[in-house]
Amino acid sequence: MKLDPNKENKGNILLVDDIPANLHLLSDLLINLGYTVRSVTSGRMALKTAKVKRPEVILLDIKMPEMDGYQVCQALKLDEDLCQIPVIFISALDDVFDKVKAFNFGGVDYITKPFQIEEVVARLDNQLTIQRQQHLLQKEINHRRDTEEALYQSRALLSSVLNSSLDGIAALQAVRNPETGNIEDFRYLVVNPVIAKVFQRSREEMIGKLVLKRFLTKIQPELFDNFIEVVETGKVLEQDFYYPSRNSFWYHFVAVKLGDGFAITTRDITVRKQMELALQDANHKLEQLVNIDSLTQVANRRCFDTRLEAEWQRLAREKQPLSLILFDVDKFKPYNDYYGHLAGDDCLIRIAQIVQEVVCRPADLLARYGGEEFTVLLPNTDTEEVIKIAQTIQKVIREQVIPHAKSDITNIVTVSLGIASLIPSMEVQPYTLIAYADKALYDAKQQGRDRYVYNC
Ligand code: GH3
Ligand code: MG
Ligand code: MG
Repeated sequence: MKLDPNKENKGNILLVDDIPANLHLLSDLLINLGYTVRSVTSGRMALKTAKVKRPEVILLDIKMPEMDGYQVCQALKLDEDLCQIPVIFISALDDVFDKVKAFNFGGVDYITKPFQIEEVVARLDNQLTIQRQQHLLQKEINHRRDTEEALYQSRALLSSVLNSSLDGIAALQAVRNPETGNIEDFRYLVVNPVIAKVFQRSREEMIGKLVLKRFLTKIQPELFDNFIEVVETGKVLEQDFYYPSRNSFWYHFVAVKLGDGFAITTRDITVRKQMELALQDANHKLEQLVNIDSLTQVANRRCFDTRLEAEWQRLAREKQPLSLILFDVDKFKPYNDYYGHLAGDDCLIRIAQIVQEVVCRPADLLARYGGEEFTVLLPNTDTEEVIKIAQTIQKVIREQVIPHAKSDITNIVTVSLGIASLIPSMEVQPYTLIAYADKALYDAKQQGRDRYVYNC
């Protein structure tokens, strides 16, 4: 019989009866009612057919030659693929039908011939419904088992990531004031072993605790507000953080919003930071070395040139005076020749030290210009002030009373000073100031030394 493909299939039935007339009757009735029916006339064929395509219910005649219904049912129950198929026995009224045996062999119901089709349908539908519900339940159970397995796997994965990470990982949840809704603190939800170690606590001691605010208040209170900002705005916060704990001091952290809270990863950067600081220190020292005269320990010519350029620009903008004193030890060649070069060096060191005490404003700069010649750069210093400073320099060097047996001026070490002072402008080169001071120094030498000359 050809099936209407649009007709709903009420269920796949396998009908087993050795008498073809019986088969046709029931088969036709059921097909007409919308069931898909396959009919076979022997137990052996029934087993084969069921194997090929699993029916939802088997209607099984009891009395059959070769293999009776009980035996077929027993064989079905022993087959892993077929054992779940419900079997409804069909027995003739005059058959010797053993219900207990039928149920013991795995039958779920029985029908007695001659039957009423309504009864057959009712019993069939019962089994089909039970089958379908069992199927759904099994599907649900399988789905749950798969979900649980996936959940277990992902938990296991997550916990192995957390536990094996070299970085600190934590998740914190905002704790809000119930009335205002403002964040008052954060509670640890997840803490990995690295984080626990930093705080020298166990994970159990930390999870669920409201300790972040108290901790940050002691160390870096503004960071608490920054974390609130991460939660409220979703902005990522990334920075270095100083927290001495055991052998570590510096951490780099990244905080990102996670739910109503944030996740934080921290990395110990102590070694890198120490290297950075050492490098900074070395650079600083190097910079100093580059700018300092090794003999006298005052600024060198290079430093002076840089500073002159910068002050020139600044004071040109501010239209403020820049003054310069250039001074040179008198008759230093005979000093060296008489006392020796080492004594000459000592003399230069003493002069530098004593003048440095006079030139004490932060912006002022004493520099060794070359040989036994020094400069003093004095920003925001007018003529009157610079002359006073020149006089003081001359005076303090004299007061050292460094003997100079070969000077034809006096018997102690003296200096000659050239002074220049002007308001810088962008149109004029800074070197002009040096040229003026140099000319004044030359004049001081010409005029007999141990004096200052001002060149305006
Ligand atoms: P003037 O009064 O005209 O300045 O005469 P002077 O002898 O000081 O001038 P001159 O330029 O002829 O000689 C400078 C001397 O300074 C020559 C040089 O040996 C000495 N000198 C330069 N630098 C150093 C130094 O670093 N150490 C020592 N000990 N002497 C130096
Ligand atoms: Mg000299
Ligand atoms: Mg000289």
